[in-house]
Amino acid sequence: MQTALTELIKLSRVGQEADSILRSCVHCGFCLATCPTYRLLGNELDSPRGRIYLIKQALEGNPISAETRTHLDRCLTCLNCETTCPSGVRYGRLLDIGREHVETRVRRGTWDGLMRMGLRTVLPYTHRFSLALKLARASQWLLPKAWTASIPPHQQSDPWPEARHNRRWLVLDGCVQPALAPNINLAAARLLDRLGISLIKTPGARCCGAVSYHLNAQQDGLDFARRCIDEWWPLLEQGMQGIIITASGCGAMVKEYGHLLRDDPAYAARAAKVSAASRDIAEVLAAEKLDTPRFTPGKKGKVAFHTPCTLAHALGVQGTVESILKKAGFELTTVPDSGQCCGSAGTYSILQGELSRKLRTERLSALESGNPQQIASANIGCINHLAAGTATPVRHWVELLEEASRQDADL
Ligand code: SF4
Ligand code: SF4
Repeated sequence: MQTALTELIKLSRVGQEADSILRSCVHCGFCLATCPTYRLLGNELDSPRGRIYLIKQALEGNPISAETRTHLDRCLTCLNCETTCPSGVRYGRLLDIGREHVETRVRRGTWDGLMRMGLRTVLPYTHRFSLALKLARASQWLLPKAWTASIPPHQQSDPWPEARHNRRWLVLDGCVQPALAPNINLAAARLLDRLGISLIKTPGARCCGAVSYHLNAQQDGLDFARRCIDEWWPLLEQGMQGIIITASGCGAMVKEYGHLLRDDPAYAARAAKVSAASRDIAEVLAAEKLDTPRFTPGKKGKVAFHTPCTLAHALGVQGTVESILKKAGFELTTVPDSGQCCGSAGTYSILQGELSRKLRTERLSALESGNPQQIASANIGCINHLAAGTATPVRHWVELLEEASRQDADL
């Protein structure tokens, strides 16, 4: 694609990056078929190719309107289009650049602005979010049904296993996950403890920065990233093997630290090393011997696995979880169109409620078509969002595996 970006933008590093991404798009349109928003809305401007065109127009100095921003807001950042694109267009990175550019030039309405500010002020801070969750639980009768469905019951947590092994990994606590589902990381710690690995919590590294970054507060997002790097770096230097992440949405953000902070002289080198040292829990477990007596095959029930977009398209981890669960004795049901977005997409389920619910209905129908006893996934956002739309239990797959390994040990 030919471009004519404004001189000012072209001279900046970000502008050069955008220019090179724009030029890599050949307009073939292969990406349209896999884009959920194009499928639902049927408008080219709600497709990857249409959004690329809008971003090009904006960076070339053409007028930008609230409508431009709406089409960019409607993108789920599921990156299904990146996986499909034969030319390797880095659409996700271009969208980040385009969104930041548009955000600073078109004012949002009062309600939209306040909503986004509220989300950025509460979600990345576990204590604030826990308090908001407590208040929501206490006043459920006052809230609309669509909201109360998304409030999970309180989870009682058991003690964290003692750090007794030489093999040690750090774990990202996260921001909303410890409040919504503290048992996910606990299950990972117990499971790894049985495999001879100690998982070490780092209370100073909470939010990975994804919430702010994807709400177009990119600089705030990078500050969260710097805090995580400051917390993890000395521990990595002391010999920790790496950082395990149980939420694929956060994992995708941490994997990007190196690229996003490449121009920050104080952080660039450490950010790249932190990204390289981060792993989704599935990647770590896949490298472990799971055919021990603790994981003896035996019928453990039917499970439908929902692959989060961040796991499949951003981290490129596909089929690994299914294969681990099968080895452990679970029966995996066939899920049509696996890898399609469930509509959670960070704060998308709050800001684009209607589209998000449509996608959830579609995904649940696909997931439940094989009559599973449970649905499993790998990202807290997807788990909470799907659970709000079905009576079938939805859990993190690591919790299922940990329970199964406990039962096997008791035999
Ligand atoms: S598939 Fe890739 S090259 Fe083709 S239009 Fe979409 S983004 Fe551009
Ligand atoms: S990231 Fe997902 S929603 Fe956005 S344009 Fe690509 S396929 Fe469509």
